[in-house]
Amino acid sequence: MYKPIDILIEESIIEHVKETFEERTEIHVADLTTCLTKSYFTKKYGLKFSRNTAYWVLFGDYIHNIILPRLAKKLNGKYEVETIYEHDNVQIGAKADIITDKEIYELKSCRYLPKEPYEHHIEQINFYLYVFERNLGNIIYIRRDNSDVRVFRVYPSIELFFKTLAKAKILKRAIDQDKPPKPCIKDDFRKFLCRDCQYNLRCPYYFI
Ligand code: SF4
Repeated sequence: MYKPIDILIEESIIEHVKETFEERTEIHVADLTTCLTKSYFTKKYGLKFSRNTAYWVLFGDYIHNIILPRLAKKLNGKYEVETIYEHDNVQIGAKADIITDKEIYELKSCRYLPKEPYEHHIEQINFYLYVFERNLGNIIYIRRDNSDVRVFRVYPSIELFFKTLAKAKILKRAIDQDKPPKPCIKDDFRKFLCRDCQYNLRCPYYFI
């Protein structure tokens, strides 16, 4: 007896997303620009996706796969450039969407084009600017339903870079000591993330 087809589709999507993103066991910069508690749980218990999050990740992945290679070629750059940055015995994985001689581009799909870039996206591209030694970052938002685009420029901030490095140490220590760290994000962002977080039942910082 088969399960209902919508459940089978949901399972297929979640399986695909987990297989695509599961290999990442090291700390990545994206773990540091979101809720640190969530990143700790992800490292400890593996990725858990709700249906909504899995769909969101899946379509973001499609957009990346389709657009990045072509856009990189048109910009005379390379796409999905990876490295490991080490700081105080903490290894941090970094994967920039597109790198050219002087600039870095990050592509973000969204429901609505934001008026300002999101702080966690600024922090992420700022990290890449230091790691890959470039002076200008571009965060490209692309609307999922009509492909409208908005681009924001980001210039390097050493304070923000140090803040990201400090969070890497906090997360590494938390993993080593097996104790959830504080989220280290603003309350409004935490409230947003908590709404669809699969770890909320075991989380001491769940924003109810
Ligand atoms: S429930 Fe909220 S605070 Fe806790 S891990 Fe999830 S997003 Fe972070």
